[in-house]
Amino acid sequence: MIERSLVIIKPDGVERGLIGEIIKRFENAGMKILGMKMVWIDRKFAEKHYEAHKTKPFFKELVEFITEGPVVAFAVEGVHAVENVRRLVGDTSPHEAAPGTIRGDFAHISMDYASRKKSGGKNVIHASGSKKEADAEIKLWFKKDEIHSYTTVHEKHVF
Ligand code: GDP
Ligand code: MG
Repeated sequence: MIERSLVIIKPDGVERGLIGEIIKRFENAGMKILGMKMVWIDRKFAEKHYEAHKTKPFFKELVEFITEGPVVAFAVEGVHAVENVRRLVGDTSPHEAAPGTIRGDFAHISMDYASRKKSGGKNVIHASGSKKEADAEIKLWFKKDEIHSYTTVHEKHVF
């Protein structure tokens, strides 16, 4: 039941100064941050991260978008973390993401609009879509010794 998930604040979120605001939401929910880094990934790494999308019509734009500036990646742990993280993040298309979610509060475009504009779909944040995806993504983004084992107060008061 206790799962891990990977979150990435995309270049639009970093450039807009939303790092603190976004991290706060996961901390507020009582999730445990296991590891964190700011990286400017290259095309090869981006293609690996988004491998599942390589046949999609927006793949090229997506890779361009995620490599246009540094991102902040962090691994979180919590009860039903994959589902709970996705709930905090909101629907893929900010246009459909509910107010109160990260995408709903900090963006509003639709993916239709993004595709028409030949943009990668600026929606501020990435979150693993399944447990399998989370495990693979954490492995891709973090070395073993970058994932830390420590105790948070949440384990007493929230978990
Ligand atoms: P996520 O798991 O909610 O991030 O959504 P997906 O895994 O389906 O897509 C990965 C990313 O590709 C999204 O977060 C968007 O940045 C982008 N994307 C998804 N769908 C579209 C689309 O229809 N058009 C464009 N331009 N980008 C898209
Ligand atoms: Mg996805």
